[in-house]
Amino acid sequence: MSGLIDWAADLIYPNRCPSCDRFIPWDRLFCEECESAFEERSFCPKCGMNVCVCESRELYYDGCAVAAPYLGEIRRGVLALKYHRGFNAAKYFAPRLCRLIDEYGFSGGADIITAVPMNRARRAQTGYNQAEYIAKLISKRISVPCDFKLLKKKLSSAIQHELSAEERMKAAAEAYSPYKNKSLAGKTVILCDDIITTGSTLSECAKILKSLGAKKVYCAVISGTVLDGADKNKGSGKIVGT
Ligand SMILES: [Zn+2]
Ligand SMILES: [Zn+2]
Repeated sequence: MSGLIDWAADLIYPNRCPSCDRFIPWDRLFCEECESAFEERSFCPKCGMNVCVCESRELYYDGCAVAAPYLGEIRRGVLALKYHRGFNAAKYFAPRLCRLIDEYGFSGGADIITAVPMNRARRAQTGYNQAEYIAKLISKRISVPCDFKLLKKKLSSAIQHELSAEERMKAAAEAYSPYKNKSLAGKTVILCDDIITTGSTLSECAKILKSLGAKKVYCAVISGTVLDGADKNKGSGKIVGT
């Protein structure tokens, strides 16, 4: 059925590759050239970094699955997801993310899926939250319900990618808050986002979910920033490929 809807939608809004913007057949998510250029990297299943920081940083989440490196064609696809309603990257990487979640044992006892929130102004501007879009795809595949009324983001906060790792931690700590009167007592939560860089945002959100009683918080992220490991102890090594 969704194939038929995609086919029909393609007549009105022709399908484009989210990396290079070329027209592609309705049943593809990236063009062949871009897909064949995708790079592979491995990420630590606990901290979600390509250069593990588990020993040096206190992170409040219990594990993190990352589907792909935030590099090259994949990075362009994720930027389209973030800013231009280009949902193909989420559709493409969701099955891989679900396989990892399963492999790492995150989905077994999961009760709720949620997403890193966006502030109201940004949400009104874009009309969607890509992290919620990812959460819904995962929810459908692993049959665990979504709840997006757990975390809130305050209106003004600094632009994350312009901050150092330390500044990010501080900004993240001030940016998020829980919904009132929510309880997650004893629950296992899967927290979704599009990109992990230092893990500060996910850690702060996980901390809030735990303050509501969550027993475990596992993260599921489409792409991970690749660090060269120069300053791995601070989780602020040089970002490559941007
Ligand atoms: Zn392409
Ligand atoms: Zn690690």
